Amino acid sequence: MRERTDVLVVGAGPAGLAAALALKQLGAGSITVVDREAEPGGIPRLCHHVGFGLRDLRRIYSGPAYAREYARRAAAAGIAIRPATTVTDWHAATTLAYTSPDGLGEIEARAVLLATGCRERPRAARLIPGSRPAGIYTTGSLQRYIYEQSLATGKQAVVVGAELVSLSALLTLRHSGAAIVAMTTRHRQHQIPHLLRPVKWLVADLLARTTLYPFTRVSRIFGEPRVEGVEITDLANGETRTLGCDTVVFTGGWIPENALARRGGLQLDWRTRGPRVDQGFHTSVPGVFAAGNLLRGAETADYSAL
Ligand SMILES: Cc1cc2nc3c(=O)[nH]c(=O)nc-3n(C[C@H](O)[C@H](O)[C@H](O)COP(=O)(O)OP(=O)(O)OC[C@H]3O[C@@H](n4cnc5c(N)ncnc54)[C@H](O)[C@@H]3O)c2cc1C
Repeated sequence: MRERTDVLVVGAGPAGLAAALALKQLGAGSITVVDREAEPGGIPRLCHHVGFGLRDLRRIYSGPAYAREYARRAAAAGIAIRPATTVTDWHAATTLAYTSPDGLGEIEARAVLLATGCRERPRAARLIPGSRPAGIYTTGSLQRYIYEQSLATGKQAVVVGAELVSLSALLTLRHSGAAIVAMTTRHRQHQIPHLLRPVKWLVADLLARTTLYPFTRVSRIFGEPRVEGVEITDLANGETRTLGCDTVVFTGGWIPENALARRGGLQLDWRTRGPRVDQGFHTSVPGVFAAGNLLRGAETADYSAL
């Protein structure tokens, strides 16, 4: 099946939906937004805590409410949103192939915007030795298990990383009833930025009660068939310490979701590994644009939308 649209946006996260809305207001014609997930909204859909929307929507939302608000505005503006549609390849410069429950197809557009976001680096990409037990997550997979699929995770967790997204992991673990054994970071202190001030009340207590091991790395994971603990190594003196746990959550370490960009032959920025763009978000391929966390994982949602 071949379809036509003026603008095709790949990714219905904050960046894709906000761009679609802005383009509609500018009179860009017919706009189609596709997303591989069953619902539009991107990552915030699974972040069941407040902290979204401050700079773009001028209100603080929870992640799911923020995602719903963007989807509502897009639908009201007459933007076609196509969930459960994964773009797999390029058939021409601005013609993309997709797969969906209805089968395979292609969409020909006058312009394409890639807004495919970024993802966290999992254990394998961090080259951490040890056994390969169950109980190892990224924040994204943990949230999908708990909030979307209502699956049991663990009871005692170590969170690897101490940045903004790590707080999201702490809140999710608290929601699931798990105890937080510790947070570890390679940095000398946590990286939770000052921009968090508006929601500090939400996390200050949780952070204060969480033991942080700064300037350490996870040097081994052990246990079989489930995690029984991790070994952490002090980066200052090489001393090791064992933390007992049944869950390990790797947070941050962002990688742009750049498979489609690479497949389309877009030039990448060697520093960010996202597509190289000019000030108008134009990539190296005429008619193809890129925006949001695909460009530089990871900013906050409001920044990506703006
Ligand atoms: C755990 C966690 C907590 C966070 N907490 C906060 C917070 O409190 N406040 C805040 O402001 N920000 C927070 N963020 C950051 C925020 O979620 C991101 O900045 C924002 O989602 C980026 O928007 P985006 O549109 O660029 O990407 P995304 O939201 O990642 O959306 C990209 C979309 O593209 C789709 N996609 C990718 N490839 C394809 C393809 N080939 N075909 C079809 N669809 C595709 C994906 O399914 C996804 O829906 C958090 C992030 C995480 C991971």
